Amino acid sequence: MGQQGIFYIVATPIGNLDDISQRALKILQEVDVIAAEDTRHTRKLLDAYQISTKMVSLHEHNETERAQMLIDKMLAGDNVALVSDAGTPLISDPGYVIVNQARQQSIQVVPIPGACAAIAALSAGGLPTDRFLFAGFLPQKSGPRQQSVAELMKQAATTVLYESPRRIIDLLEAIQAVDAQRSVCLAKELTKSFERFLPGTPGELIEVLQQDPDLQRGEWVVLIAPPEKQRESSLGAEILEAVEIAADALPLKKACEVVAKITGHKKNQLYQAVLEYREK
Ligand code: SAM
Repeated sequence: MGQQGIFYIVATPIGNLDDISQRALKILQEVDVIAAEDTRHTRKLLDAYQISTKMVSLHEHNETERAQMLIDKMLAGDNVALVSDAGTPLISDPGYVIVNQARQQSIQVVPIPGACAAIAALSAGGLPTDRFLFAGFLPQKSGPRQQSVAELMKQAATTVLYESPRRIIDLLEAIQAVDAQRSVCLAKELTKSFERFLPGTPGELIEVLQQDPDLQRGEWVVLIAPPEKQRESSLGAEILEAVEIAADALPLKKACEVVAKITGHKKNQLYQAVLEYREK
């Protein structure tokens, strides 16, 4: 059997066409075929860089059948690049099915990293970045949406969401319903001429957006800070919670001793942290 082709997962710009690496351009030029979420959209990018590689479409409605066709091509020796309309494929974009299948077939899958709206927003938004939870687009129906927001806002991590302009105020209202004082940062139109970062509480941001409906247009990343209490403990919320659960059945010192044995922390450190946590 001849040599298999390589499957490149290529990040493309999220607005500013300059945000594409030399390596990405080289790969897009050299592969046998580019699988693009929307070939007309990607054509504009390829034209800007005088790349004339053949394209096929691969989007959420045809991914399964296209995956098989493209995998057959790679098994036969063709190199393939996957791109989405903007940013990093698979990040709230198609590609999981084909990457998963390619790996199962032992095809070499190579990432060509670049723009990603979530990471761009985190890098300049000013909210904690030591732990973050990317949740993409939330459900559109209000019940499941409110439930997801409440669940995410419990986490000891900055939550990163994508949202459409139509639902941005609705999302802020859902955040406000859980915690009106929570720090939020909205990142709009990243890398484009109308790029804006809007920090504030959900209520402040709703007011700003309602005063200027034009501002609501465009693409949004929503960053939600973790709850204060959990961030302030260097031990992390899960460990403190474990001590609290153990303390339901045991005296606090004993509970700290048990959790310390399991987690490898010092029991005195746990004890102090829990006392401080309870005081807040
Ligand atoms: N794969 C992309 C990435 O790597 O970021 C995300 C694709 S997802 C279908 C599109 C969503 O990402 C938009 O609705 C918006 O929430 C966010 N997004 C994409 N580009 C953006 C930009 N330039 N500024 C702000 N948000 C953006």
